[in-house]
Amino acid sequence: MTDADEELVVDALSADVPDDAASSDQSDAAAPSADDEVASDERETEAEEECAASLRPTVFLDRDGTLIEERHYPVTAEDIVPVDGAATALAQLTRAGYQLIILTNQSAVARGMISEEQLGVLHDELIDELTSEGAVVDALYYAPHHPDGTHAAYSFASPLRKPGTGMLELALHEHPTDLARSAFIGDAVRDLFVGVEGTGPRILVRTGHALSPEDERAADHVADDLVAAVEWLLSEPAARRATATGT
Ligand SMILES: [Mg+2]
Repeated sequence: MTDADEELVVDALSADVPDDAASSDQSDAAAPSADDEVASDERETEAEEECAASLRPTVFLDRDGTLIEERHYPVTAEDIVPVDGAATALAQLTRAGYQLIILTNQSAVARGMISEEQLGVLHDELIDELTSEGAVVDALYYAPHHPDGTHAAYSFASPLRKPGTGMLELALHEHPTDLARSAFIGDAVRDLFVGVEGTGPRILVRTGHALSPEDERAADHVADDLVAAVEWLLSEPAARRATATGT
């Protein structure tokens, strides 16, 4: 990840300033009548509704222990093994109208075990495998940082690293998403972004690190693996509505 990416994260975070603040400043400058303000508000509401209706939901996916088999710091092509049925399950999500975005911590970069260039090659190969059944992976974001790394450039507590929300905010900034109809699938609670409100279901899979009862309570559903998670998501009522209106 580059400095430019970090700046984008900052942009995404600062975009949280309420729209009201900006629009009221503009209204003061133009000094509109009360009727104008009402009409303007109605147009804005209609525009927001039209925009929301055109947005697609996204499934945000963890990588290690979720899309690929769990390994201790997978840094070679041999270490990158998609879980059974991954390509087929992702293709089902694509056909159901979901965008697919992978968000993954990769502290092996900070630990000097792999370069970003080498990681990029592994990811290109992984995406080829995951899309072999017709899935479209819209984006993959990785956090190469870790506070205890050995590579100085990456050895700090980055907001990009989960459970920080930086990668999610960057993804939402670059891939407009209907968050209310979106879902999260991962093998750890940090993959679920439980502090982010107004989202769709959060699903844990059992193909990664062992889950505690507390972990399981943080999820809306716990599935044996990615295939079972996708099966549940596509049969769950909210997901069916997403399918009906998705493109
Ligand atoms: Mg994982």
